[in-house]
Amino acid sequence: MSQSTMRGMRLGAQSLEATSGIVFSERSDYTYICAKGHETVLTFAAEAELPQTWQCKACSAAATLQEGGKSVILEETDDKGPRTHWEMILERRTREELEEILAERLEIIRARRASAKGEA
Ligand SMILES: [Zn+2]
Repeated sequence: MSQSTMRGMRLGAQSLEATSGIVFSERSDYTYICAKGHETVLTFAAEAELPQTWQCKACSAAATLQEGGKSVILEETDDKGPRTHWEMILERRTREELEEILAERLEIIRARRASAKGEA
């Protein structure tokens, strides 16, 4: 009996919290424009980390975030930013080598899947 009362209170408190969250969190509209000029407007909380690209709602192409009336410059690899693993790998290996490694990996994965199927 007392347990169900407590559960009810907890639910009430949670829904209050959710309501205040909506009221107090700041939101802004952000516009994304794809190569064809379609505008996709999204609303994000002010503290949210904005994606630089979004899928266009009209044509499903990649749309770029607009800032100050123009497209943001997409984070590209330069000397300033930290490099991705992929870039570091590319520096050490050629594309052909990578494709070979990938093929090997796929073989292993396929073999694993095949054996898993056999067991099941
Ligand atoms: Zn589009």
